[in-house]
Amino acid sequence: MAGKRKIQSFFKSLKVRLVLLFLIIGILPSAVLQVGILHSYETKAVSNRSIDILNQAKILVNQIVFNHYLEDTSSEIINSQLEQLSNIYDGRVMVIDGNFKIIKDSYGLDEGKSIVSEEVIRSFRGEEISKYDSENCYIEMTLPLTEKESKEVLGVLLVSVSTDSILLNKDYLQNSALILEVSCALVVALIAVFLAKKMTSPFYKMAKGIVEVQNGYASELNENTYTETDLISYRFNQLFGRMKVLDESREEFVSNVSHELKTPLTSMKVLADSLNSMENVPLELYQEFMNDIGNEIDRETKIINDLLSLVKMDRSAGDLNISSVNINELMDLILKRLRPIAERQNIELVLESFRPVSAEVDEVKLTLAITNLVENAIKYNKPEGWVHVSLNADHQYFYVKVEDSGMGIPEESLEHIYERFYRVDKSHSREIGGTGLGLAITRNAILMHRGAIKVFSTEGEGTTFNVRIPLNYIAS
Ligand code: ADP
Repeated sequence: MAGKRKIQSFFKSLKVRLVLLFLIIGILPSAVLQVGILHSYETKAVSNRSIDILNQAKILVNQIVFNHYLEDTSSEIINSQLEQLSNIYDGRVMVIDGNFKIIKDSYGLDEGKSIVSEEVIRSFRGEEISKYDSENCYIEMTLPLTEKESKEVLGVLLVSVSTDSILLNKDYLQNSALILEVSCALVVALIAVFLAKKMTSPFYKMAKGIVEVQNGYASELNENTYTETDLISYRFNQLFGRMKVLDESREEFVSNVSHELKTPLTSMKVLADSLNSMENVPLELYQEFMNDIGNEIDRETKIINDLLSLVKMDRSAGDLNISSVNINELMDLILKRLRPIAERQNIELVLESFRPVSAEVDEVKLTLAITNLVENAIKYNKPEGWVHVSLNADHQYFYVKVEDSGMGIPEESLEHIYERFYRVDKSHSREIGGTGLGLAITRNAILMHRGAIKVFSTEGEGTTFNVRIPLNYIAS
């Protein structure tokens, strides 16, 4: 199994693939060329030899007919020419008469015997036939012996020539080509390994660079040999930067959480310690301190509850509990719940609904989001102030506007108000029971609905939060 994986990863390697590619590009064309050239050499050599023999044979045919050799085979000149043809081309020459009888065989083996082959019969019909048998390595030619005037075929001249010498030459060429090819392949292989190593080295450098960045020896990846590695380096640095920011914000969050949770505990410890250190404590003081301790416990509970809502929202980012909700009723209910707090501070709380709105939302999360906004508008208001909440919609979205006549938010704080534990005025916010998590929860809930939240504020005059949420839930 491990062996198989090793082989797989070997062939998956870019370096190995490049070597193979270079080898194919370097060697395949010469191999094809070799086969092609050797084949055309054989064809050309056989065709040249055939033409030579045909020319010689034609001369002989004329002389045989002219000297009436078929009737009398004793002609010295013809016999010597037959001999010569046979010797020069390392072949066999036979003269066949009109009765298919071999009257002359340069090998002297078959004289007097009959020969009835397809080629001989066709030549008796006047055809000149030339045939190359590459398996048995010979060229065979049959020519009709035709009387000039009467055009009568008197016999056939059969020439059979060995092509061994051509094939020997071809073998020699093939061996030379093979030697050349093997040497060439070795050189190509060396160059291929060198080039592949050089071409893939930026990727190895990049992997090493990533490890260095990971270990903190380098701050960023910079491998710009190729446009592609440059792009990957750029994207990696972007991603790594984002991870660093995330990591920092996580660390900050954890330290904030610890700090926030510790504060009420410290207060409680101080209160308890001072009670314990006193002797004969009057009951009223006990009650007062216990009341304070109770308030700190409430505060701790609120922070933990807010944190839990936030964490729950982070975790269930994908699974909102979506249903069709009457938003007018939902807004009514929120304001009804908050009215006692507003009344306690003499703040006028008004809801204005421009039209009936029904939307696909997570009722619990949206309630939490809007409640936080309206609660803030009441909490950070001035005595006798007002809070105007309005609900409107078009064909695509519904809009909630929460306007107050409160203290407003300083401009430099506007970009931070959605951060966890951020408070413009820490001590004031603590006094009125703020945890700094409310707007973070609100924003998360709205973003989960693919909505948007915007804030406008003038210090000393008031603040307006605009929320926009799609009427139909858009699944990711
Ligand atoms: P908190 O629990 O402190 O209210 P939030 O996240 O709800 O935390 O708000 C963050 C900070 O933004 C608050 O501490 C407050 O300073 C400021 N803020 C929020 N809403 C308003 C508002 N309507 N008017 C003035 N300041 C506000």
